[in-house]
Amino acid sequence: MQLRIGNGYDIHRLVPGRPLILGGVALEHPDGLGLDGHSDADVLVHALMDALLGALSLGDIGLHFPPEDPRWKGADSLVLLEQVVALVQQRGWQVVNLDTVVVAERPRLKPHIEAMRSNIARRLGIEADRVGVKATTNEGLGPTGREEGIACHAVALLQQP
Ligand code: MG
Repeated sequence: MQLRIGNGYDIHRLVPGRPLILGGVALEHPDGLGLDGHSDADVLVHALMDALLGALSLGDIGLHFPPEDPRWKGADSLVLLEQVVALVQQRGWQVVNLDTVVVAERPRLKPHIEAMRSNIARRLGIEADRVGVKATTNEGLGPTGREEGIACHAVALLQQP
């Protein structure tokens, strides 16, 4: 059996007048902020897609879904995730597990973690116990700490039986 590991990172700016979607869950920021971006700016799913692509050295989401392409304007990132998983499966690989850390001061993510895990697991066709979603604050430090943006780190492990 062969194994591959991939790493992903993304950050999006917090701005007024945009939805705040993480792991396919629409959240309410206490100051009414959301994530800026060409697609729905789901930073969690973006980091995850980069981890999956990285595991097979298939480039990054900017290569597969260029931001200047009007097809991806306002795109549901979970639909893009399905396309990335299809690429992985076409090459004969399966997802063993994924793990992610969202870095956000607010809102509190804990009540929504299970919904995010199940959204992602469903799109990947795997059990939710293979999808880790964790949340941390940045203790007020740096751009995420100042709530200028929300970031996410992800790793993905793939196997080829
Ligand atoms: Mg992104």
